[in-house]
Amino acid sequence: MLQRRKTRQLTLGDDAHGYVRIGGDAPIVVQTMTSGYTHDVDGCVAEINRLAAAGAEVVRVAVPERKDTAALKEILPQVRVPIVADVHFHFQRALEAIEAGGHKIRLNPGNIQDRKQVEQVIDACKERGLPIRIGVNEGSIIERKDKQKRLKELGGVFSNNKHGHFLAIMITKLEEYLDIFDGRDFHDIAISAKSPDPDLVIDAYTEISKRFDYPLHLGVTHAGPRETGTIRSVVPLGHLLASGVGDTIRISYANDPVYEVEDALELLYCLCLRERKGVDLIACPTCGRIQVDLFTLVQEVRRKLAEEIELPIKVAVMGCIVNGPGEAEGADVAIFAGDRRGIIYVQGEKVANVPEAEILDALLAECRGFEARVRSGEVQLGQKTVAIAPPDPIGELGSGAEKIAAGEGDKVTGLTVGGR
Ligand code: SF4
Repeated sequence: MLQRRKTRQLTLGDDAHGYVRIGGDAPIVVQTMTSGYTHDVDGCVAEINRLAAAGAEVVRVAVPERKDTAALKEILPQVRVPIVADVHFHFQRALEAIEAGGHKIRLNPGNIQDRKQVEQVIDACKERGLPIRIGVNEGSIIERKDKQKRLKELGGVFSNNKHGHFLAIMITKLEEYLDIFDGRDFHDIAISAKSPDPDLVIDAYTEISKRFDYPLHLGVTHAGPRETGTIRSVVPLGHLLASGVGDTIRISYANDPVYEVEDALELLYCLCLRERKGVDLIACPTCGRIQVDLFTLVQEVRRKLAEEIELPIKVAVMGCIVNGPGEAEGADVAIFAGDRRGIIYVQGEKVANVPEAEILDALLAECRGFEARVRSGEVQLGQKTVAIAPPDPIGELGSGAEKIAAGEGDKVTGLTVGGR
């Protein structure tokens, strides 16, 4: 288990939307943000509910206009997760969102020039017990007399860091922001320091975590399309989380935010920071030995199992018996393909040998049956009682003695896999 940095804890939510704790000993929280207009009440409600169904525990909505905060009043009774109002330039939007029943405010104090307006928002949140996330933004430095002196001090601290100048500005700015909150005796704060630069994200959050004990909201902003944004996001977030830094995460893609939620959850599962919900699917990448359309099979297995299976059953889909049994070690349910057919094992016992067209249904049936047996207490997940003995490639998996003798054991007739 990873050692996590100790932080203060904040709570958001209410009886109708549930309570979510962030920081302290709370599990790392998965957040996302709606992509549509908040004033489109039906569309916004549908999107929030879709994101919650995918696993989002907190959903943020933008409230740039009065019609958005007005819509919040209609949206809140129709959703069941805490909602964060994302405010940028108008403190009045924050006050309206608080009045509408929003559960948390995301605010960049540097974007609201009048300190008294920021204080009004802080006081309104304090009165209602609402937390505030403050973001560090390079373009919004609040002037203060000794800023240059502090920048110089921090510049010395970060002189060996290629992001040294930005880090100095960021820490200075955070100190200034936190002074405002301290002045109102307000400490229900989460901090974010996002950037599109993964390297900078690592440095920024690492340095903040050394200096402040507020919970951290991790993210790589404007990470791009999912195809490249996944690695751009998961590398720094994974690094930070594995170092014990981070209390809530949002992955940002130029795509359907459901993917953000799915990938954030998978990241937490992979780091053992969250108990997995649903199937843990492993699959071979295929190679020249493949004799079924494994890519299509894996996609179908993934989709169907996500719909039907709730328990974290480990399922392995393997293209052949050469490495399959070893790589599927520990799987509760495994399938090894041969020449247009597959053999299915459940906790090490061979239970079926079916043609390719029947693999999906047979595998699903075995997973359903296994889940029912786990629920009844008959078996336990991960309880592998029988070692997987490789199936006979010549007989059972249909490669054929003649093909093997002729050196054609892995020859695939008329098979197209993944367009190759
Ligand atoms: S399991 Fe078999 S087909 Fe899949 S990558 Fe390994 S050797 Fe190749």
